[in-house]
Amino acid sequence: MSYVSESSSLNKALRQQYLSLPQGNFCQVTYVWIDGSGEGLRNKTRTMDSEPKSVADIPEWNFDGSSTGQSKGHNSDMLLIPVCMFRDPFLLDPNKLVLCEVLKPTRETAESNHRNRCNKVMEKVKELHPWFGMEQEYTLLGVDEHPYGWPRFGFPKPQGPYYCSVGADRAFGRDIVECHYKACLYAGIKISGTNAEVMPSQWEFQVGPCEGIEMGDHLWMSRFLLYRVCEDFGVVATLDPKPMTGDWNGAGCHINVSTVQMREQGGIEHIEKAIKKLSKRHAEHIRVYDPHDGEDNKRRLTGRHETSSIHDFSSGVANRGASIRIPRQVGQEKCGYFEDRRPAANCDPYAVTCVMARTCMLEGEEDAHELE
Ligand code: ADP
Ligand code: MN
Ligand code: MN
Ligand code: MN
Repeated sequence: MSYVSESSSLNKALRQQYLSLPQGNFCQVTYVWIDGSGEGLRNKTRTMDSEPKSVADIPEWNFDGSSTGQSKGHNSDMLLIPVCMFRDPFLLDPNKLVLCEVLKPTRETAESNHRNRCNKVMEKVKELHPWFGMEQEYTLLGVDEHPYGWPRFGFPKPQGPYYCSVGADRAFGRDIVECHYKACLYAGIKISGTNAEVMPSQWEFQVGPCEGIEMGDHLWMSRFLLYRVCEDFGVVATLDPKPMTGDWNGAGCHINVSTVQMREQGGIEHIEKAIKKLSKRHAEHIRVYDPHDGEDNKRRLTGRHETSSIHDFSSGVANRGASIRIPRQVGQEKCGYFEDRRPAANCDPYAVTCVMARTCMLEGEEDAHELE
């Protein structure tokens, strides 16, 4: 059995000749959408006669939902509604990537489409100018599903030297990290940083601050770029929240949150109010923080490896073992933002920002439930 991905062993230099052929006025538009698993991404490409200037110029399309876990065979056409357009860092200008919402043939929202409801909530709270920043952790695997760069038999040295590391004996897969970063910048994704993580072959990048619905749009497309870059290199990125059992850190997707009041002088008061509201809805949030109602996060939120226990809510300044952390600088300046450390790496950012806005930013309880 070969452990080398076919894709990575193709001659990439040869590819360049064809990619640089002129394409006239035609534009290749790749539609990207979330499949029935709520985690996987799918894509397909079509030609447009001219370059779309905005997402409004890109027509609706459809796909076979019976092949993506999104419909039954007898009525399988699902609709793709373009919502956010990016430059394509693989086929280059003028070609585009477009993130889509999925609707049923009746134009009802598909089960795995959490964007629709998220957008409604973001509309309701838009006066608060909600900003989000998410820290996407992920693990690189070989196509044999073993962490990339780990010995075939046995384990690397214990955790300690890997976080923010440099060197061939500790930073595994930097090519992917750097290519992905450049690809995100080219595409127009608001990527704000990257670092090597505590477990070897685990990395993080940050997207944000993004306002409202933009958070989910940009994070989902950044994940697509990650998978696509990995494909070129013949490795796989997994968002499994605990890819290796034992004394190895899991992978989360911390969310940083603020409203205009929190960012203004004395905003800490508003941060504390939001944390109080969150403390009353711990169980509800845990159900939304991974795609399987908390089952995936159970393996990660153990109270060890810089996590809080899945069963308890806690908060504190500079405390990385708490559910909610107030960054030290925010504690000192008495304004800024807070961090919820509970979301799993494979969470849906639409679902997470949606529940966050409902809990912390909608006024009364009635209001928060009105959109059910
Ligand atoms: P950590 O110390 O938790 O590792 P990072 O530097 O990895 O923090 O990530 C911080 C995140 O917080 C970034 O995504 C950034 O965009 C986001 N962020 C910064 N300021 C704000 C703010 N005022 N509101 C919301 N998010 C913010
Ligand atoms: Mn971070
Ligand atoms: Mn991290
Ligand atoms: Mn963090």
